Amino acid sequence: MGDRAAVVWDSSLLGYDLGGEHPFNPIRLELTMRLASALGVLDGVELRVPEPATESDLERVHELGYVRAVQQAPTVAWDVGHGLGTDDNPVFDRMHAASALVVGGSLLGAREIASGAADRAVSIAGGLHHAMRDRAAGFCVYNDCAVAISWLLDNGFDRIAYLDVDVHHGDGVQAAFYDDPRVLTVSLHQNPATLWPGTGFVNELGGREAMGSSVNIPLPPHTRDPAWLRVFNAVVPSLLSAFRPQILVTQCGVDTHEEDPLADLSLSVDGHREIYRTLRGLADRYAGGKWLATGGGGYQLLRVVPRSWSHLIATVLDRDVAPETRVPADWTATVRKIAPHADLPTTMSDGRDTAFDPWGGGLDRPVDAVIRDVRRAVFPLHGLDPDDPRD
Ligand SMILES: [Zn+2]
Repeated sequence: MGDRAAVVWDSSLLGYDLGGEHPFNPIRLELTMRLASALGVLDGVELRVPEPATESDLERVHELGYVRAVQQAPTVAWDVGHGLGTDDNPVFDRMHAASALVVGGSLLGAREIASGAADRAVSIAGGLHHAMRDRAAGFCVYNDCAVAISWLLDNGFDRIAYLDVDVHHGDGVQAAFYDDPRVLTVSLHQNPATLWPGTGFVNELGGREAMGSSVNIPLPPHTRDPAWLRVFNAVVPSLLSAFRPQILVTQCGVDTHEEDPLADLSLSVDGHREIYRTLRGLADRYAGGKWLATGGGGYQLLRVVPRSWSHLIATVLDRDVAPETRVPADWTATVRKIAPHADLPTTMSDGRDTAFDPWGGGLDRPVDAVIRDVRRAVFPLHGLDPDDPRD
């Protein structure tokens, strides 16, 4: 399927730069594309170059007044509000254009799939899942995931499953479709009692006409790969089999990594690789092979993001990179120029074993309480038995 997968990329996407010491540094994207290239993952792949999303695209999920504020923010002296000009969401030059281009990247992926030109698409610049209808939040100006989903709803898709594996709750996407039963949003994240944005509890189930279409799976700090995968596999495949999506849209943030400076889960690059292979398998089994993948969070810029998202791109292209693969020397040399003393990885693995025991219906592990709570809250709304592990 390699030639039926679209990789969206252009160096102009590096213009989404929050500046200075902000953790959301575009170098993470540049180093990912360099590493994927050095590994040979992109050999013969024609990169799809996005156009900026139009105002009418943005107005699918954002208020026009907010779009105007983003457009004006770099040139006005007063406080524009809308969450802009804060430490998290500083105003930067060409902010609107750069943010609209990120949305355009995810939209291009959606269009490639809807037209049949591709079954899968990946845009690592996307995944800005915190942006709200009328405000920026959590480093996110415009919500590319929500715009792409909205566009798909108007272009032949009636049942869309959004899976968000970022360490933070996918609050902006959940909010955009909270009352829409056509969109199943599932977010796995660090327990919101312990991490911004403080939402994403199990009892956030969707609006009155869409109960069960919002699924939240809060995980305790220090959760490792096997426990994460045990929970995911005890909840998500069953929901997809019941919901029967026509496409998966996934936010593939990698700030779940143990070394991430902004959060406290303890996943590894090996876990990320396994997650992407699992998402691909779910798309193939439950969504006719259709899979739109975006990036998201991830703030260990040198050691984690480039490797994990190279695995993501490789997985989308069916060019899986073996964990023991050596990190190419020319990539390491490039990074050495900007970080001479960094402790750089030598292989595409953290040496972790991701094997897990499937949930068996009981409360045998600490994390099984999460499985029980989520299944009991959500499964009956989908006609599934929360206590039967075969469901
Ligand atoms: Zn995040």
